[in-house]
Amino acid sequence: MAEIKEKKMGRVFLVGAGPGDVRLITLKASELIKTCDVLVFDHLANSELRKGVPIGCEQINVGKSPGRHTMEQEEIGKILVQKAREGKKVVRLKGGDPFVFGRCAEEMIVLNEEGIAFEIVPGVTAALACAAYAGIPLSHRDYGSSISFLTGHEDIEKESLRVNFRKFAEVGGTLCIYMGMGKLEEIITKLLKGGLPPDKPAAIVSQGTLPNQRKVVSTLDQIVDDAKKAKLEAPAIIFVGNAIGLTSRNNWFEDRPLFGKRIVVTRPVGQVSRLKDLLEKKGAEVLELPLIKILPPENKKLIAETFAGIATYEWIVFTSANGAREFFDVFFKAFGDIRSFGPMRVACVGEATAEVVRKFNLEVELIPDRSTGEDLAQALVATESLDSANVLVVTGNRNREVLVGLLESVGHAIVDTLPIYQTDFADVMEAPDLAQYCQNGADAIVFTSSSTALSFVEQEEDLKIENDARKPMLCSFGPETSKTLLENDLEVSLEIENPSVDSMVDALVQKFGNHCR
Ligand code: SAH
Repeated sequence: MAEIKEKKMGRVFLVGAGPGDVRLITLKASELIKTCDVLVFDHLANSELRKGVPIGCEQINVGKSPGRHTMEQEEIGKILVQKAREGKKVVRLKGGDPFVFGRCAEEMIVLNEEGIAFEIVPGVTAALACAAYAGIPLSHRDYGSSISFLTGHEDIEKESLRVNFRKFAEVGGTLCIYMGMGKLEEIITKLLKGGLPPDKPAAIVSQGTLPNQRKVVSTLDQIVDDAKKAKLEAPAIIFVGNAIGLTSRNNWFEDRPLFGKRIVVTRPVGQVSRLKDLLEKKGAEVLELPLIKILPPENKKLIAETFAGIATYEWIVFTSANGAREFFDVFFKAFGDIRSFGPMRVACVGEATAEVVRKFNLEVELIPDRSTGEDLAQALVATESLDSANVLVVTGNRNREVLVGLLESVGHAIVDTLPIYQTDFADVMEAPDLAQYCQNGADAIVFTSSSTALSFVEQEEDLKIENDARKPMLCSFGPETSKTLLENDLEVSLEIENPSVDSMVDALVQKFGNHCR
């Protein structure tokens, strides 16, 4: 009898993505996203999460609109089954928790029927997240001893509500109503008719955990008007119950210094993360518009020659953080051992560059007060150690004539220049957040180098924002970047003295901080 080779079956993971803030995803979900072959997602999951998938992962958007559930739900089931049968590891990512109004039950039933192996990973559901991020307690020994999750329906066209809200008025405790904004008035009227008093505490949190979270805290008889005035829209959770009356006046989430501010970072892909991370922790919404890209060096022979004679230099001078980063990358590929670096003294143009060098436990002996080539040269000359000394200046492809000129003419040093990387303008049309920027604008754009400023000018046409969008202030990492902006008739609203990611974040907090609101 011919041997039948058994085909390896895949596995499906029904995974909760949490309510919006990417940091609310579970470790398990995050691991699965990083290792899946297929990611099936819909519009509620934060698109940021998808950036974590492995290269080659197939991404399928099954985003559905209200009213078209049934047909698409069937299709989603089919996709999950088919991909699992192909032997794939499939992650079905859902907003919040998959079992809370997430239609996960339907998908699980299909997988069961078809004999597909699956696992379920819970997520932080919107009601719990909105409550926590808005300072709304859901229970209290004296004010709320039960919590109910109910569904209204966003679709105004739909005739009737699924839940009998009049009856739920009798249940009491804390009610958390999902998908209720389309029928807010009807829901509230029914709760009042069911016997809840008009002064019963109620609240609505929309876009919970996201940089545009908004809330109103009110009473049953006022909440509809208050929500209209505040223009609150879906997605939102409606809360009703006595515990809601204990809502905190201070709100840790919305009171963070940069909450509600939209800030554009222009660093190359891969270098954004620390700045983005710090800004987000302060409450800002960060848009990524990489304006430059870093390319490998053109002249590999020169690098090889320089490295061969690396022991002969007395000073090594780094003129940018990118230069330092690339230098050590290439250096370790060539030598694999820090001892080959020798006893050179190290100078850096500014704090951000020095931060990179210090990561290798190397001492940075010199940083000028102002981060310009001229100041760097003057500070080096002032050490009186340059006369006939061999100096290696690590640069990008942009010339450093002033620096090198001064080191040679005033310091009498023997200077070699090592162009270790090239920068090129990155095409903004490929930027992940371009559409959002053009539509809504931003409060600030952070330019990290002259090249990001030049690239901005060059691509101004593609970066035009809508008339009613927020007009951004331009922020610069240092005098050279500001000079480039000013030369192109762009106004600089903020320049930091010591270019480092931390000082930029501090300066933005000073400038835009909510203490100014
Ligand atoms: N499975 C999801 C709920 C999906 S139903 C969960 O567990 O959270 C969609 C509804 O969830 C929306 O209509 C809204 O009521 C609520 N919702 C989802 N994300 C939200 C958010 N960030 N802020 C407020 N409500 C949200």
